[in-house]
Amino acid sequence: MTEGRHGRFHKQSLFYGLGETGQKRLEKGKVLIIGCGGLGTPVINLLVRAGVGFLRVVDQDVVEMSNLHRQILYFPEDVEEETLKVDAVKKYVHRLDGQIRIEAVNQRCTGENILELMEGIDLVIDCTDNFPTRYIINDGAFKKKIPWIYGGAVENHGNIKTFFPDGGPCLRCMMMHPLEKNETQRADTHGVLNTITGMIATYQVSEAIKYLSGNREKILKDMIHINLWENDYETISLPKNEECPCCVKEYYEFL
Ligand SMILES: [Zn+2]
Repeated sequence: MTEGRHGRFHKQSLFYGLGETGQKRLEKGKVLIIGCGGLGTPVINLLVRAGVGFLRVVDQDVVEMSNLHRQILYFPEDVEEETLKVDAVKKYVHRLDGQIRIEAVNQRCTGENILELMEGIDLVIDCTDNFPTRYIINDGAFKKKIPWIYGGAVENHGNIKTFFPDGGPCLRCMMMHPLEKNETQRADTHGVLNTITGMIATYQVSEAIKYLSGNREKILKDMIHINLWENDYETISLPKNEECPCCVKEYYEFL
């Protein structure tokens, strides 16, 4: 019989890539999740079930009916009661695993609070839906020397890339300035399939598990682009910009 805490993660620690040692490391992991929407909710669900020990979750919205098709931690009563997303997340996580420590922050992530949000954190997962916030995350993560995992999904396609602060490249190497809201596709205007948010989130958590369990060398260095509707999968290599203000010159203008 495999009961209790050991039993909960038994099938995971049997996996050769983790083992008991990797599982123990995961349980010590401290992760910051920015955004509790289409990416954030499946990311949180999988991290908690994998046994990651501490989560700090950040969001400022309340649950809406149009969230339910893809934001998998919420229920119709959360919509009726206009529950804050971070409160609904906390309730769900406590029900699922009372030993996971979770800190719910009902704030928007800004250049002013990002360093404080990253305090004591091992890894940041970007689950936002806009580029301006990602540039704040990029600057904060490089300044604090914490890796972060970019994820984005809309319509039928999505991207993921892990950025390591020890050397780059970073998000600004890829694109010097953030695209404005009207320059990008958004779920509000273009819609989004729940399978693409689920898939990008799953990929993000998979990379997170590798990092937190001490298997950094397994993390893909390139960016992955997936289009589920057209069955198109590609990896895109991002060269470092030797003039990059962030990862080369250490000038963090979004903070
Ligand atoms: Zn850079």
